[in-house]
Amino acid sequence: MRRSVRRIRIAHRYFPVTTLGFERGVGIWVAGCENDCQGCLAPELQNPRAGELMLVDDVVAWALECRGADGLMWSGGEPMMQAAAVDTIVQHLNEAGAHLPVLLYTGLTLGEIMATGTSAQRRLLRHIDVLIDGRYRQELGPAPRSYRDGTY
Ligand code: SF4
Repeated sequence: MRRSVRRIRIAHRYFPVTTLGFERGVGIWVAGCENDCQGCLAPELQNPRAGELMLVDDVVAWALECRGADGLMWSGGEPMMQAAAVDTIVQHLNEAGAHLPVLLYTGLTLGEIMATGTSAQRRLLRHIDVLIDGRYRQELGPAPRSYRDGTY
């Protein structure tokens, strides 16, 4: 049975996000990460107490007000640490008719999630359209500014 999750710890939320996959994305950055990537891009978001503890209903209401949104982007922090809450929000948005494509950045690999992830993490995978997975690798250089137009 799916556990009902009422709260989520969010570091930032923003609309419209014009990079990171969409032209007018709803962007949500969760707080908390234990992946400890060398050269972490967002060390301030590793703290699981960063940001604000929000009701998932309030996050859904905010996202529904983002007129003209063409996608929902999750980053952090580590969204998979709060997979049940992320999944609840995605499903509530779908039930409200939003049906936004979902792109999610995770420091875990797909293989890790499938092999040792929680049931909530594997359930969330079913509702993600694009998964960008794996630890940040500093030696590969800066992240692209945009996946949409190929600008680096
Ligand atoms: S997954 Fe992201 S937030 Fe977490 S340690 Fe790696 S770069 Fe930092």
